[in-house]
Amino acid sequence: MTITEVTCPNCKGTGYIPHYDYNCQGVCFRCKGTGKTNQKEYTEEELKKKEQKINNKRQATLKELRGFKNTDILYIVEGNTYSIKEQLKQDGAIWNMWFRKWVFENDNLNDKYNLKPVSFEDTLK
Ligand SMILES: [Zn+2]
Repeated sequence: MTITEVTCPNCKGTGYIPHYDYNCQGVCFRCKGTGKTNQKEYTEEELKKKEQKINNKRQATLKELRGFKNTDILYIVEGNTYSIKEQLKQDGAIWNMWFRKWVFENDNLNDKYNLKPVSFEDTLK
């Protein structure tokens, strides 16, 4: 990243913004009255990294929203679950808003329920 000193775009280099006169005597808040401000410039590689970071964050949010907060794989309880709702709750199943199905975060109860593993990647298809 390189920093270049440029004329403050807010006050056009005057360091003063007339319609903010009532507030701090109109001293430009961006350049603090100097009329100059630093402009950051990024290399292509830095921009890519920034973008990657934003994408990773977005992905993490999406992942959490779809119920993959602690895990990459969820186990969907197949079949009619309405009548066994209370049993599922007792066994630690979680109602997943995205799938609109009961899910487990592990397959420990594979013998008891018909579990179908799904990965977060599956939800992106
Ligand atoms: Zn300014």
